[in-house]
Amino acid sequence: MARYIFVAGGVMSGIGKGITTASIGKILQSKGFKVTAIKIDPYVNVDAGTMNPVEHGEVFVTKDGLECDQDIGNYERFLGEELTDDNYLTTGRVYQTVINKERSLEYNGKCVEVVPHIPNEVIAKIKRTARKTKADFVLIEIGGTVGEYQNLLFLEAARMMKLEKSKNVIFVLVSYLPVPKIIGEMKTKPTQYAVRTLNSAGIQPDIIIARSEAPLDEPRKNKISVFCNVRKEDVISAPDIGLIYEVPINFEKDNLGKIILNKFGIKARKKGLDEWEKMVNTAKSTNKKVKIAIIGKYFQSGSFFVPDSYISIIEAVKHSSWFNKVKPELSWLSSSAYEKNPEELKKLKNFDGVIIPGGFGKRGLEGKIKAIQYCREKKIPFLGICLGMQLAVIEFGRNVCNLKNADSVEFNPKTKYPLIDLMPEQKLALKEKKYGKTMRLGNYKCLITKNSRAYLAYLKHGFNKTKNKKGDFLIEERHRHRYEFNNEFKKIFEEKGLVFSGINPEKGLVEIIEIPNHPFFIAGQFHPEFKSNPLSPHPLFNEFIRSAIKNK
Ligand code: GLN
Repeated sequence: MARYIFVAGGVMSGIGKGITTASIGKILQSKGFKVTAIKIDPYVNVDAGTMNPVEHGEVFVTKDGLECDQDIGNYERFLGEELTDDNYLTTGRVYQTVINKERSLEYNGKCVEVVPHIPNEVIAKIKRTARKTKADFVLIEIGGTVGEYQNLLFLEAARMMKLEKSKNVIFVLVSYLPVPKIIGEMKTKPTQYAVRTLNSAGIQPDIIIARSEAPLDEPRKNKISVFCNVRKEDVISAPDIGLIYEVPINFEKDNLGKIILNKFGIKARKKGLDEWEKMVNTAKSTNKKVKIAIIGKYFQSGSFFVPDSYISIIEAVKHSSWFNKVKPELSWLSSSAYEKNPEELKKLKNFDGVIIPGGFGKRGLEGKIKAIQYCREKKIPFLGICLGMQLAVIEFGRNVCNLKNADSVEFNPKTKYPLIDLMPEQKLALKEKKYGKTMRLGNYKCLITKNSRAYLAYLKHGFNKTKNKKGDFLIEERHRHRYEFNNEFKKIFEEKGLVFSGINPEKGLVEIIEIPNHPFFIAGQFHPEFKSNPLSPHPLFNEFIRSAIKNK
């Protein structure tokens, strides 16, 4: 029998509702329960796959190819488990299901209405996920903040679930308490309003997580308790902290796990965030630094500059740095600098390692290619991811194989040397303007050649080690791209020393390239960052960081 915990946000967005949800999940998991988490995004998009980075930030990809919000990434990193399409819901998805059902007469000729049919569909999905995952606890994070028009129907679904399963549903409100400079005091009024708004949707929070820059003091705890109708011990202080992985530990200082279990009338099955605490202590106590540059492109949003978002990469670098007992010092470099002034490239010498992440669109590409050339020639450890691999191929093609103006057809459809090209099924999708969920998405197999550099990395850090007769490894990694290495050029590249160390066995597509006689030069068509978590960092990142430390 599953128990349900709804998490909603008050006052404003961006205050760590996702991390709170993931942390509650971690705590319950550490007490011996099976936990799963669902993210509800109130937008009409069916998934996050068609949104640009300024609108959405990173698009996270699950093993079954769902393109979703980075909160799913947080859940995976905290829970150490792979989630699926069952863990994600948007307004678009709910309506799409309801409309499809109506078209196939599944409502038996009834008038299909927003209420109750839409909330009913939300509830059906939540229960289905509970059944499929056999979870003891299902956490459901409702995106946006209370009082928004967009998430009302999801709150309505939550209210209806509480009505049906009163003993098995609780509500958590993550609210913000500002400390305005001119007043110099923490204010509770916005949170009081948020609770009232939630009340008017028929919901009373059981627990309030008080997010603020400072810890909550007694007078304010009392005030929130009295005005928001929540027991004092159920108001949890959640001040800003530097390390997100410390949040579950901090919550436990306020006994959050026990408070939640008491509300459901059950007891912990085991005790302990032990392994997690050990990881956090290592993260906090390492002082030796490793300097990593991530070369991307930047977007402007109003008066703010936002980096093309790479949260999973940042986290993966942290995980593998702690694993190697160092603290990562990350720098964001804009590739366009190298286009304007090649002298800028020399600054790359100051870094121990360079990452070129995935991306779309032409801007900043030539700068990235120059940076890759610099890393190859000056022997700076280099990790290329997705677009990063495609550009490493283009660089090698142009500068080592002498294929002048070689390119990807994504950027120059008329190039004489289409090193990166479209597969026929992709050509068709683009011709028919079918952009949603048509990229090569999610897990694909990759056979890694015995004794290659990538092989040694996976061997050492043990990641699904299925071997074939020749001793090659079969691994699975997550993808999100349309274009592929063009195998017509494979021979020329091999003759010039590039090693194709990972190949998809079903389609013969190139998955990993590497350059021998280099401290570390590996690039993959997939996204290793999606599979990294703090207790199980990714082999390629681990080896990349290890080489970066050696390169110091
Ligand atoms: N734009 C490239 C492609 O579609 C790379 C995508 C990526 O880096 N995720 O193949």
